[in-house]
Amino acid sequence: MNIMYKSTRSDGEKVTASQAILKGLADDGGLFVPDAIPKWEVPLEQLKEMSYQETAYEVMKFFLSDFTEEELKACIRGAYDEKFDTKEIAPLVKKDGAFYLELFHGKTIAFKDMALSILPYLMTTSAKKNGVTNEIVILTATSGDTGKAALAGFADVPGTSIIVFYPKNGVSPIQERQMVTQEGKNTNVIGIVGNFDDAQTGVKKMFNSKELAEKMNAKGYQFSSANSINIGRLVPQIVYYVYAYGQLLKKGEIEPEETINVVVPTGNFGNILAAYYAKNMGIPLETLFCASNENKVLYDFFQTGTYDRKREFILTSSPSMDILISSNLERLIYRIAGEDSNKTKELMDALTSEGEYKITDKMRAELDCFVGGYASEEQTAQTIRKVYQAAGYIMDTHTAVASYVYDSKAKETGRKTVIASTASPYKFTRSVMDAIDKDKYDAMSDFELVDELNHLSGVKIPKAIEEIRTAPVLHDTVCDKSQMQEAVEKILGL
Ligand SMILES: *Cc1c(COP(=O)(O)O)cnc(C)c1O
Repeated sequence: MNIMYKSTRSDGEKVTASQAILKGLADDGGLFVPDAIPKWEVPLEQLKEMSYQETAYEVMKFFLSDFTEEELKACIRGAYDEKFDTKEIAPLVKKDGAFYLELFHGKTIAFKDMALSILPYLMTTSAKKNGVTNEIVILTATSGDTGKAALAGFADVPGTSIIVFYPKNGVSPIQERQMVTQEGKNTNVIGIVGNFDDAQTGVKKMFNSKELAEKMNAKGYQFSSANSINIGRLVPQIVYYVYAYGQLLKKGEIEPEETINVVVPTGNFGNILAAYYAKNMGIPLETLFCASNENKVLYDFFQTGTYDRKREFILTSSPSMDILISSNLERLIYRIAGEDSNKTKELMDALTSEGEYKITDKMRAELDCFVGGYASEEQTAQTIRKVYQAAGYIMDTHTAVASYVYDSKAKETGRKTVIASTASPYKFTRSVMDAIDKDKYDAMSDFELVDELNHLSGVKIPKAIEEIRTAPVLHDTVCDKSQMQEAVEKILGL
């Protein structure tokens, strides 16, 4: 099967996987989508015996059809190695009746590592395959975790440089420290006065500017993206849902073909979209629970069929989900619209101009495998405390949002349920420890809290945290949300 990629917003020319990875975004501002979803062919029973790397190859070979076996296997080998602190790469642990798929064992202790460990390999391989000689400038907006994972992945990768924009007051102290201490001659980190949506909109605007592209090309540069709008991010994320299914089989928790649920703490809709693709490939996933924090635009969308971003942006203790414009939802919209790019463009244009759109009843009927849920700040904190008390397991705030939705909605289905655990609690130490006992921990410094968390959980302090205790700040640029392009031009000397 030879999968090609096309835009969600027009029916122009199709491109290969490697071209889609290089470009990031389609020329018309749409997102690249596969022109068909391949069917999973390996007998499910066999998944039990497959390593993470083997599973990755079997999933990704379908989607990246223009990569040779040798190329793809080299990318996988380079990505999923000792950078991860466990051979399993994504361990599935059972706590208090639920299955937590721990996606935070990579270099920067968030699930973004699952895809951003391999993206630099996919990108440089794609450049080679297409005879690209320009330097590839990775331009990224981050709500906290993508930034660090992308910086770590691309630092000192020849032929690339990376510029990351983050909301100056919208990330956790540890997230910020992780980014501003990043080493590497080709790395740039800029705080913006604005929120994540401002950062993402500014970045998309630069991607869409023909004028800027020409200016860059003249100097030997071209943009690509490390955000989940890049299919090179999305495809590697499908892998761990297939792997999790295999782990449940291996542990004897399910029979082959038995259906399971997943609960995914959602922001930009990338992680849960990967689960949807896995389901469409034929992996027996029944209901996909989309868990939101108080920025519950997606919950309302699944309830009503109207996507309405006109609301207050709330800063929560799960900052990586503080998003009102979930970019990847466009790929789902395209699919439930019957792959109608005109309809998709019409809705996306309405979102830009009116701040909302409404899908048709027919489209809504296609959404029956999704259930939205959300957790308030209080419910999130209670969940952390409750699972700690019941099972001695300490989870981060994002995972807790999903765990609450599991408890309040998924549990009653009676099916085995996998909760995507998207970050190490060490990344959000203050919120996590406050949830457990605010009176006791409130006065302590961030790094004192790290030691307390270690004491309570017995989980080793990750290298990513040890490293930033003493690392010097190397990036201190801040700009207004309206000055992002100037900042980029300055860095590149345009
Ligand atoms: C990015 C992120 C999310 C949201 O994932 P999306 O793919 O944007 O929906 C959730 N939790 C954590 C910890 C993250 O870093």
